[in-house]
Amino acid sequence: NREIHLVNRPQGMPVNADFNLVSKPVPVLNEGEVLIKNLWLSVDPYMRGRMVERASYIEPFALNEALSGGAVGEVVESRHPQFPVGSMVSSMNGWREYFTSAGSDLQLLPQTAIAEQAFLSVLGMTGMTAYTGLLKIAELKEGDRVFVSAASGAVGAMVCQIAKLKGCYVAGSVGSDEKARYLLEELGVDAVVNYKTTTDLQSSIADACPEGIDVYFENVGGEHLEAVLNLMNDHGRIAVCGMIEQYNATSPQPGPANLAQIIIKKLKIEGFIVFEHWDGYPEFIEQMMQWIAAGQISWKETVFEGIEQTTDAFIGLFNGQNMGKMLVKLG
Ligand code: NDP
Repeated sequence: NREIHLVNRPQGMPVNADFNLVSKPVPVLNEGEVLIKNLWLSVDPYMRGRMVERASYIEPFALNEALSGGAVGEVVESRHPQFPVGSMVSSMNGWREYFTSAGSDLQLLPQTAIAEQAFLSVLGMTGMTAYTGLLKIAELKEGDRVFVSAASGAVGAMVCQIAKLKGCYVAGSVGSDEKARYLLEELGVDAVVNYKTTTDLQSSIADACPEGIDVYFENVGGEHLEAVLNLMNDHGRIAVCGMIEQYNATSPQPGPANLAQIIIKKLKIEGFIVFEHWDGYPEFIEQMMQWIAAGQISWKETVFEGIEQTTDAFIGLFNGQNMGKMLVKLG
């Protein structure tokens, strides 16, 4: 039984030496508890924020304790009637192989033909983030011209597909030509910008969005935000989901120089934290299951194997090593 501890608060890009893989005995079960063997761990960009000691919407990770994060596992011993052996559960007890629980921090997964790790992506937090940000925060309407940054990632690829299903023009930015091809050829996105190879991000986005942008789904921040502000249409909406470009910054980053565009274009800009919208999960899951059953939504996973690969998978998020959801599969 192994778990991953944070031993240093990363400076800049996290490195493996910031983490330690610690062996422990498998915990012993008390009456009313279950023993879970994690099968899949989620690594997510927001975890970088929790590695910094500062006040935020969620408390920082403690040093020298097991990290936490989304996970899907199987009940392997049970002294709890609601969770028989063999049940699949999701929890926030990731970054470890085994844990015990009295049940209140577990969600029993429904039996579906869809592989269980989908509850960490398309049917879980990242799918819910795309759905909430696009439909509730940005109030997407049919015919909107949509631009998405980090468009081939777990959230971004769902944003692209939901916006297409809603009858929108969709363009996105990505960090490789392979990712661009995925969006154009497999997801039916209308235009893609490779932000790593363009020499002029704003004019490339302008070319991809010839009729301007009504809705920007912001995952990146920085130069992307400044460029898009100049290209927004009047009364456009920006759902601020993430700013991954800044997560490893070691000094304060300059803000966009063109914030007056918010006034000129009469923009609505709203940030959101998906966990505060979880009352909408039943509606989301019903709709997403319908789309999947109709073959209208697809998804990709990038899988690292073994708990010892978890930190590489996590660091890989900041190097663009994933297409779709970054996951760790435990043996
Ligand atoms: P992704 O699957 O999109 O993985 C991260 C991707 O970001 C990478 O693959 C990489 O793709 C891109 N990226 C990394 N560094 C940079 C950079 N410096 N500039 C531009 N792109 C970069 O992760 P998620 O789908 O899980 O998350 C996407 C965003 O949504 C993140 O900002 C995250 O923090 C946010 N989020 C917010 C939530 C909320 O409640 N507000 C909930 C969940 C996620 P590429 O090769 O294209 O560069």
